[in-house]
Amino acid sequence: MQIELLTIGDELLLGFTVDTNAAYLARALAAIGVEIVHRTTVGDDAEKIAAAVSEAIERTGAVITTGGLGPTADDRTRPVIATLFGRELVLDESIVAQIEARFWRMTSAKMPQTNIVQAMVPAGARVLENHHGTAPGLWIEDAQGRWVAMLPGVPREMRGLTQDSILPILRERIGAAPVAIVSRTIRTTGIGESALAERLGELGKSVDGMPLAFLPGWAGVDLRLTSRTLPPDEATRALDSAERMLRDVAGPVVYGTESDDLTELILDMCRERGLHIATAESCTGGLLGARLTAIPGSSDVYHGGVIAYDNSVKTKLLGVSDVTLREHGAVSEQAAREMAEGCAKSLGAQIGVGITGVAGPGGGTEEKPVGTVWIAVSGIGETRALGRVYVGDREEIRMRATQASLDQIRRGLASI
Ligand code: AMP
Ligand code: MG
Repeated sequence: MQIELLTIGDELLLGFTVDTNAAYLARALAAIGVEIVHRTTVGDDAEKIAAAVSEAIERTGAVITTGGLGPTADDRTRPVIATLFGRELVLDESIVAQIEARFWRMTSAKMPQTNIVQAMVPAGARVLENHHGTAPGLWIEDAQGRWVAMLPGVPREMRGLTQDSILPILRERIGAAPVAIVSRTIRTTGIGESALAERLGELGKSVDGMPLAFLPGWAGVDLRLTSRTLPPDEATRALDSAERMLRDVAGPVVYGTESDDLTELILDMCRERGLHIATAESCTGGLLGARLTAIPGSSDVYHGGVIAYDNSVKTKLLGVSDVTLREHGAVSEQAAREMAEGCAKSLGAQIGVGITGVAGPGGGTEEKPVGTVWIAVSGIGETRALGRVYVGDREEIRMRATQASLDQIRRGLASI
């Protein structure tokens, strides 16, 4: 089933409110096989709302709106859509009673008269009870079966009405053996978007007829597969098989699926092997330590770290040699190696991680431009070092370096 979504509100167009309703509805509907094929946002403007709804009615004949059902003058959805469908607004006394009762329960106060408009229902419309607020949802349908479902804008109320009314109504309309729209995310790191696409070749376009989306971010490139044509069980099997194919071809850059976190993965791998981690961070200033300690229970793996920002800390606490700093500089492979080995030794861990780099925006040179980062991991076989020049602003460079250091640990652990 295909439908359209219209989100209404000046605040959405002005960027003061992020349109989370659209994202929520898209996901909730996809799970039952309903696809949003067109999405529009308009302000609190009667003409714009009317134009958007009538276009959607002509195009798809199935529309959900959110917003504009409030009690104030900028809430225009109800009268505008009633007029489009040629219906009178009729006062529904039972809704008045519900709103009055709600006010009394929540505030021990009488219902303000302004709320009366929320009890006005277009003749013949179905009232969708709102358990989380005053404005009920409304479902209006014409003789040809074209419909508009109006939901409040407040996200909590919109979600409640979606679960209580919209999903059950749509499920019933779809009938037996509905197709599901199901996605699977395969998470990669340590490889750029285009290099990954090249490695995947034909699979990079679609796998078994399922389109593949590349979603790059500082943590890596997520691959998202989406099945749109199969019943739920078959979709899951198809995604399992597609995931296996992608993993085979992509190789060790894949570290997980869905919301898997690299940090948790590493902590588990260390736990299984009885290994401990210590960190020495310069340009990342403790971000790696922060990620490790953000996971509950990490204390049985992570010993601690040194934020070795100034060279004197690198030499005094970590034993980085003066010769290294003089001849190679603080941002160098050699310094990273000595930081990794030094922190492991002084903090009593088997695995040591050293990170040093130029996070910018200043401090870059021709030889070591902004974004130059050296990462070393000791204690898993011989010390491994990785040199990269990351693009992005200071924050991004620091995040990418942190992620890469976790990935270096993962790769090291996987090889033993
Ligand atoms: P309304 O039902 O238009 O009175 O909207 C009430 C409140 O809900 C607004 O002030 C926004 O904070 C919020 N809201 C409205 N539409 C959305 C949306 N599409 N996504 C997230 N929040 C929304
Ligand atoms: Mg509004």
